[in-house]
Amino acid sequence: MENGLYKYDTHMHTAESSRCGASPGAEMAETAKALGYDGIIIADHFLNSNTPAEPELPWLEKVEILCRGYKAAKKRGDEIGLDVFFAWEYTIAHEGNDLLIYNLDAEWVMAHPETMTLHVCDFCDLVHESSGFIVHAHPFRQEYYIKMIRLLPDKTDAVETANACRSREVNQRAQWYARTYGLPETGGSDSHSAEGLRKLGGGILVKDRFTSVADYVNVVRERRIAKILTA
Ligand SMILES: [Zn+2]
Ligand SMILES: [Zn+2]
Repeated sequence: MENGLYKYDTHMHTAESSRCGASPGAEMAETAKALGYDGIIIADHFLNSNTPAEPELPWLEKVEILCRGYKAAKKRGDEIGLDVFFAWEYTIAHEGNDLLIYNLDAEWVMAHPETMTLHVCDFCDLVHESSGFIVHAHPFRQEYYIKMIRLLPDKTDAVETANACRSREVNQRAQWYARTYGLPETGGSDSHSAEGLRKLGGGILVKDRFTSVADYVNVVRERRIAKILTA
């Protein structure tokens, strides 16, 4: 907790399920607990992007790999008193756009292998038909692998306006975008290692404890985040 408010991180990676992740899920959970977080949402890279799952593996095995880091973090979280929830970061390969998907579980992913090839707009529609919630992660991030800045104000539900790994300018542009379109705002650490989380922190403070990832979705949708943490 922080100042009497519950502290959550909403965007975190693990070594088990993200190729760029440096710390295992258990260590991410331990570090978050030590830093005063009440809960974390593990959002590893989806199976169409920076995943350790080999492309030729059967779909269900791939989904198992996507969930591995979350499961390890959850197991450790249960032992030490940290709530751990599942999400994932969906990246449109070769075109940019990183979307954080909440409120859908591993069973949903198992039932939807077509998510690997759908057009981004059709993917967003499918997520919404299934009661999923889409946060556009760092919409103004620029990298060699992000070929264009593409905004989807009618296809996404909220904007990550404070990503602890991004510069002030990149976050300010995200804030401008969210406010221009009237989209709710949220924040996350995007940490890929325990050290990164320790150094940069990030996430949100809220008045009520989350019992499920749906509670997080409602807080964002209803604009009830008490404070978005910045690095
Ligand atoms: Zn990554
Ligand atoms: Zn990320």
